[in-house]
Amino acid sequence: MSKNTSAVKKLSRNLWWSWDTDAKDLFKNLSPLLWERVNHNPVELLRHISTDELEARCDCEFGHRITQVKQRFDEYMESRDTWAANHAPEIVANPVAYFSAEFGIHESLRIYSGGLGILAGDHLKSASDLGINFIGISLFYKEGYFRQYLNHDGWQIEDYPLQYPESLPIEKVTTKDGKDLIIELTIAQSTVYAQAWIVKAGRSTLYLLDTNIPANESHYREICSRVYGGDQNMRVNQEILLGIGGVKLLHALGLTPAVYHMNEGHSAFLTLELLKEELAKGIKLEKALQRVKEQCVFTTHTPVPAGHDRFSRDMMHYTFDKYLSQCGIDFEQLMKLGSEDPNNTSGLFTMTVLALNLSRCANGVSKLHGEVSREMWKRLYGTDDPKQVPIGHITNGIHTRSWSSGFTDRFWRNHTESIENLFSSRESAEEVLAKVTDHELWCLRYRLKRNLIDYISRYLSNQLYHQHMSTPYKPADSSRSVKSPLSPDVLTIGFARRFATYKRAPLVFQDLDRLNAIINNQSMPVQLIFAGKAHPHDDAGKEYIRQIVEFSRRPQFLGKVIFLENYNIGVAKRLISGVDVWLNNPVRPMEASGTSGQKTVLHGGLNLSIMDGWWCEAYNGTNGWSIGNGEESDNYDEQYRQDAQKLYEVLEHQIIPTFYERNEHNLPLRWLKNIRNAIASIAPVYNTDRMVKEYTLRYYLKEPRI
Ligand SMILES: *Cc1c(COP(=O)(O)O)cnc(C)c1O
Repeated sequence: MSKNTSAVKKLSRNLWWSWDTDAKDLFKNLSPLLWERVNHNPVELLRHISTDELEARCDCEFGHRITQVKQRFDEYMESRDTWAANHAPEIVANPVAYFSAEFGIHESLRIYSGGLGILAGDHLKSASDLGINFIGISLFYKEGYFRQYLNHDGWQIEDYPLQYPESLPIEKVTTKDGKDLIIELTIAQSTVYAQAWIVKAGRSTLYLLDTNIPANESHYREICSRVYGGDQNMRVNQEILLGIGGVKLLHALGLTPAVYHMNEGHSAFLTLELLKEELAKGIKLEKALQRVKEQCVFTTHTPVPAGHDRFSRDMMHYTFDKYLSQCGIDFEQLMKLGSEDPNNTSGLFTMTVLALNLSRCANGVSKLHGEVSREMWKRLYGTDDPKQVPIGHITNGIHTRSWSSGFTDRFWRNHTESIENLFSSRESAEEVLAKVTDHELWCLRYRLKRNLIDYISRYLSNQLYHQHMSTPYKPADSSRSVKSPLSPDVLTIGFARRFATYKRAPLVFQDLDRLNAIINNQSMPVQLIFAGKAHPHDDAGKEYIRQIVEFSRRPQFLGKVIFLENYNIGVAKRLISGVDVWLNNPVRPMEASGTSGQKTVLHGGLNLSIMDGWWCEAYNGTNGWSIGNGEESDNYDEQYRQDAQKLYEVLEHQIIPTFYERNEHNLPLRWLKNIRNAIASIAPVYNTDRMVKEYTLRYYLKEPRI
């Protein structure tokens, strides 16, 4: 194998490429057609190209590009002069172990469902960029999260294509003598075995536990089938594997984390395994609990009750009976650790309570969510005063390099050395912006919107093809190309996220006549693009999808309201870069943070959102728009109507006129000013470099520095 061929293979096995535009382009250029067909998966791509063919393609000019990318990768991997080395050497010496039930790193590795996973993936990438010794722990889900189809009626159908290890950038973890590393767990009365896979993402390492091996009964093999699949029993088993299995794996690998970070309560059983180890040393319970607490930090992610796992006393008894005898605590002691009222253990076992009880610090994911969480959990701390509750907040961000790649990345690199200058500080962002003319900025917007519309045309033809639908925008000859009815000159609004009902996807359809007048205004038209999956058990969320699809087929909205199937990271990247306005209209204060709106900013998209989550602290009057002013009501329907009215008002009186107000060169100067304000005020704050630095300095280090 030539040097270039082996370099390409090596690059394909570290997900660093997924946040490096030039590396991504290398794979894409090897075969643009295949690249689309394999869902942007370099490992799979290379499986389709023979070594001879690869050799032939790695010739002069292309070979030179490979050398350059490989050299940057090597420099990145070897660099010792990192932020962490200079600011947090103790977590360079020992790893941060970050447990999460899902990780969204790239669309080709389908082990995530939504925002929680994307956040974990972005955290892992920034940790790598900052030089933190970072280990992620999660599960390898053979079927991943589902692929979404819509049937004739617009009802969501779930499909679960398998993912195969040989097509993914993962390797099996082995022992020194080359055997598979197997850990053993006790679940109910059984011994369950798990192997592990290793994923490299820059300098970060992600381990994925996997019970899908012949040693297990089929019941336990299925633990690793689907992300958040199955019933409560499956759920508790997954969480035992993640938490207890994760600690066992780390110790089998000889690793001693400086800190255990629980990303949401799913992994909180890890505290039991740590407790077991302390008790095994002969330490008394009180002291042992204290020592576990000193090693753990916890991030809670939602005020929505269904987002907090609660298990019945019976189920806990059945599942933990045997484990407890090994652990050294009795059942009542266990229940006490997970009961919201420590004096009454007859109720449910709550994972969030276990995590709060056994971590040295805890946080919500925006300023508002911190407040909401303190209120929500105050009883646990025996106080009525939320100020006494020791839950802080660190506002979520995004991994900017991942979310501003491709065309946008190259645009900014034409104006500055590195895109980092746009998110490292407000001053440096303003400096870069000063070099970009209004005309250039507007060209960027136009080009990105065009790209999105082309993409939607291709996407829709597939979507309609398998729906066997005939619509006016499907040509009569039924060729598979569908001309997109969307126009790049029209103000384009996007809404895409999980279809959890509190996010109220159909809000903008509350008054159909008013929406009709907005969308079909001759001189100032608007088009709307929707995407998102409802959890397979969430019929109310599926009903929301059905309604939107139904609206999109009505004559007045046809070709102007679009629903795209199968929202995932790849679709998200297209949408957030192409739309003019990113809409978010949850029931306040249910959106703990939200991150998708942060992704749109460097592409010149603007946010329109309820004053909830991150937007509540980011909105400054000139960097996007708010729907209302933070009103909350106990009456859901009343709130729904009011929020919809406010949404229409801001669209009619502010957003649409500003977008269509043009100077003599057809430039929307006020709009462009908003884009500049948004970039300067949002990009430098709402990113995971800032977020991970905060976690490090406040929570990961034993002695907080801020
Ligand atoms: C960013 C992202 C999310 C999170 O979006 P929110 O608006 O925070 O709910 C969910 N899914 C995908 C695929 C994303 O890229």
